[in-house]
Amino acid sequence: MIQHKKIAIIGGGPGGLTLARLLQLKGLSVKVYERDLNKEVRIQGGALDLHTDSGLAALEKAGLMDEFKSNFRPGAELMRVTDHQAKIYADQHAEENHYDFGDKNYRPEIDRGPLRDILLNSLEPGTVVWNSHILSIEQMENKWKIFFENGNTIVADIVIGADGANSKIRPFVTNIQPFWTGLTMIEGSIKNSEKTAPNIHQLLKGGKIFAYGNEKTILVSSKGDGSLGFATSHKSTEFWYKESGINFKDNKQVLAWFKKEYADWSPIWLELFEDENTVFIPRPQYCMPLNQKWKANENITLIGDAAHWMPPFAGEGVNMAMLDALQLSEALTNPALSNTQKAIETYEKKMFRRFEKIGQMTLFNTEWMHQPNALNDMLSMFGKNKLKQGLFLLRYMFNVTVIPFTRKYLGLAPHKI
Ligand SMILES: Cc1cc2nc3c(=O)[nH]c(=O)nc-3n(C[C@H](O)[C@H](O)[C@H](O)COP(=O)(O)OP(=O)(O)OC[C@H]3O[C@@H](n4cnc5c(N)ncnc54)[C@H](O)[C@@H]3O)c2cc1C
Repeated sequence: MIQHKKIAIIGGGPGGLTLARLLQLKGLSVKVYERDLNKEVRIQGGALDLHTDSGLAALEKAGLMDEFKSNFRPGAELMRVTDHQAKIYADQHAEENHYDFGDKNYRPEIDRGPLRDILLNSLEPGTVVWNSHILSIEQMENKWKIFFENGNTIVADIVIGADGANSKIRPFVTNIQPFWTGLTMIEGSIKNSEKTAPNIHQLLKGGKIFAYGNEKTILVSSKGDGSLGFATSHKSTEFWYKESGINFKDNKQVLAWFKKEYADWSPIWLELFEDENTVFIPRPQYCMPLNQKWKANENITLIGDAAHWMPPFAGEGVNMAMLDALQLSEALTNPALSNTQKAIETYEKKMFRRFEKIGQMTLFNTEWMHQPNALNDMLSMFGKNKLKQGLFLLRYMFNVTVIPFTRKYLGLAPHKI
């Protein structure tokens, strides 16, 4: 009986916390082990857009839509597409009709901090065990012993790895490795952007900027606390973040790199790199093989980035993680599925199929966005001020042409951008 089993979710990101909430609603015994010291630790990263059929569907099932509607940021999803000179080519702020809840294409934005708070506040007290950095796990008959960096150990009946891109749980589920995509992102966040980066702040207009130029991108998103989050991406070797010799804690060195690497970009973007308080995080981009599959285990599985790490260029990562949580919670509590192995198999089959499709779209976007003429190609296809229609057409074209065409090649040589 699943009701009598102790479930350990490793990682309190959006995937792990959503799963904990959904399982608690079904009366199961769940703990979340999170490496962060406490819930006050500041959440890095830009805002997230939740999609109707995945992220929002999971929140709906979790009974948290009212909380979401009180915390999301209307208008933050509006996007401006610029070239490297910060010239605006498409502007959703200028469009008359905007989507709303209930519309399949509406993608409301929420900051990571408030999303985490909504999920944390929905859990029974003591569900999240903070300061629990897991080092490893060990199988003991039909249970798992879990080892923490702080010296603690616990035993659980079922382990769910929701511990993100560099999952420590993944190797206990599969020996499949992520492949290198050929891109490195540099992520940062700027407080009080109105003062610290006034020109970018104005260009951002409380929404998002997607800037493309010469095989590089800069993505910027506003946040509700007056800060902004951004990420650059450029083609590099796999270990560039080490081999370049840049000390990413020394902001002067990072600024010097940016000036050189983005030399032909407008000086306006320098504002992103000039604040001495910015914490820079280099993020080499990997992707799990799109045709990955493994035999279902009876008491361990993966969700979110731990299961299907991919670059963020389709804005699907958090949505996939939350839909994983929804589908796994439904499978584990489905009385028609005779045991936990059957439940895990049912969830994983759906997850593999979804990832094959979403991962293809992600790599398609990733490749397209880093072409020399990404912006011109898109605009010549769709025309100015037709961005929204263009993006949907692009998605449609992808579904009807690219997926069937490339399916047979899935999983062959690593996909290098
Ligand atoms: C620059 C950038 C921009 C992005 N933009 C978007 C976007 O716009 N839209 C979108 O959908 N996605 C975006 N993503 C991807 C998105 O952030 C992830 O897909 C999503 O956060 C995955 O959720 P998760 O719960 O699986 O993992 P995570 O959010 O990574 O959470 C994992 C949790 O596990 C904890 N943890 C890790 N290791 C351990 C351990 N050993 N022991 C205990 N705890 C551990 C971590 O502290 C963390 O809390 C972006 C990613 C990046 C890097």
